Amino acid sequence: MSRVKTILQQGKVKQAVIDKFRENAADIVGADNISSGEIDLLSTCRDYWPISSIWMLEGAVPALPQLVVWPNTTEEVSRILALANEKKIPVVPYGEGSGALGGAVPLQGGIMLDLKKMNRARKLDELNQLVTVECGMNGALYEEYLNQNGYTGGHFPQSLRCSTVGGWLACRAAGQFSTRYGKIEDIVVSLEAVLSDGTIFSGRSVPRAATGPRADLLMVGSEGVLGVITAADLRIWPLPEKRHFATYTFDNLADGLEAIRKFIRAGTRPAVVRLYDAQETGNHFPELGDKRPGLILLFEGAEPIITAEAGVVDQIVSGQGAVDAGPDFVEHWLETRFNVSAASRLLQKGAVLDTIEVTTNWHNAHSTYQAMQKAILSEEGTMMASGHWSHVYPEGAALYMTVVGFPGENKIGYYKSIWRAAMKACLDEGAAISHHHGIGLHRGAWMEEEHGRGLEVLKKVKAALDPNGIMNPGKLGLEEVQQWEK
Ligand SMILES: Cc1cc2nc3c(=O)[nH]c(=O)nc-3n(C[C@H](O)[C@H](O)[C@H](O)COP(=O)(O)OP(=O)(O)OC[C@H]3O[C@@H](n4cnc5c(N)ncnc54)[C@H](O)[C@@H]3O)c2cc1C
Repeated sequence: MSRVKTILQQGKVKQAVIDKFRENAADIVGADNISSGEIDLLSTCRDYWPISSIWMLEGAVPALPQLVVWPNTTEEVSRILALANEKKIPVVPYGEGSGALGGAVPLQGGIMLDLKKMNRARKLDELNQLVTVECGMNGALYEEYLNQNGYTGGHFPQSLRCSTVGGWLACRAAGQFSTRYGKIEDIVVSLEAVLSDGTIFSGRSVPRAATGPRADLLMVGSEGVLGVITAADLRIWPLPEKRHFATYTFDNLADGLEAIRKFIRAGTRPAVVRLYDAQETGNHFPELGDKRPGLILLFEGAEPIITAEAGVVDQIVSGQGAVDAGPDFVEHWLETRFNVSAASRLLQKGAVLDTIEVTTNWHNAHSTYQAMQKAILSEEGTMMASGHWSHVYPEGAALYMTVVGFPGENKIGYYKSIWRAAMKACLDEGAAISHHHGIGLHRGAWMEEEHGRGLEVLKKVKAALDPNGIMNPGKLGLEEVQQWEK
């Protein structure tokens, strides 16, 4: 029995039921692949939700599971789920716990299904430019495997080194090169999954088919509440022949946004498009030094194509008043793009910090930034509310706000108040409440405002696929958000 304090635990399964499950599960995965050791429960009980990091520094966790199970195969996942379903034991799928919204918190105890041992590339299909990969494969190892074979997966979330392929699919992740390669939902062609009753099913990897709604793709973005994604067929690309870097600064953000809208409309697709407000430009690229919004661009692919793209983009941004700052800043960004150590240092100094990513159309891109920034800054204790746009589409772009506050003792109250302010501003502007971090536990409170009647449809899907409600209870805003309210 753990002595660690839990803050959000909503229940536990009777120990006798867990003991019996453990006995039966040992026949499925082997006794070595099941643990109730405190170190294993603590290492899988939470994700990177900032609130849980604050609690962790104070010696507490949101909730604890009762067992950790490590399946090796899809068949084992199926048998474990069927057993848990029979005994009505909650199951939380677990990748690497890099989720940002408390999605992996085992609110009702039960089992953490840690999928890291399902980490094989099953097939590299060079003719069709596809790879079949298991859900627990680490992101950096996945890209390394592809690179060794002359390919890239085109998917580089900042958490590449601490997230899994299954976690990407479960959360609708976005990588830094998404403007060219797309989000993970654009990269996945089909997937294999297991439902709560143990049913294994998969889609077919054909380019497109008019065969009704796709059952397998329903699992994309389901955050563990509908079942377990066990493998996927993902698009891959030959390693690019060439890269081209460019940096520009603008008089103001509106000009930068308009320039981006125009070059996307013209048909160019730089892999990386990142427009930072003046504050973030100063933080990331102090040598740019002139307190103006900065835009960094990375083009990659066949040389004649990217040379032409870069030319078109240069012409358009120049017409929007951009000043060319050369390629070096992109080199610097590439070198530092996975470094988040400043966040840990601030946390230890007593700061509350978080990132809030939303999706804007072009008509509300700038106004949503202004409204969210104003709303967050108006909360007492806020030191910084800055923003950038990345992940660009013909119809809009993702806005990513970074918040740092020093609220003193009432950190949780402050955290809730900045989120309330930010989500209200976002919804009032007509933006979507998340672009790629997903919903988890924390954002569930705004799902009804986001989806309207559509949330009822999602609840019906959940009830049909998981009638006993064992899959990751309390997430995605499908149930009452009890102990964690707005
Ligand atoms: C420093 C940092 C930077 C980040 N940068 C980005 C970024 O650039 N882009 C981005 O999109 N996100 C980013 N994130 C968020 C996070 O990395 C992603 O959400 C990632 O997809 C989660 O993967 P994971 O394997 O760690 O999943 P986990 O955190 O383990 O799980 C996340 C959720 O998915 C469910 N889940 C996990 N695996 C499966 C599965 N196989 N089947 C069904 N459900 C499953 C879990 O139950 C949970 O609800 C960042 C996070 C951090 C901490």
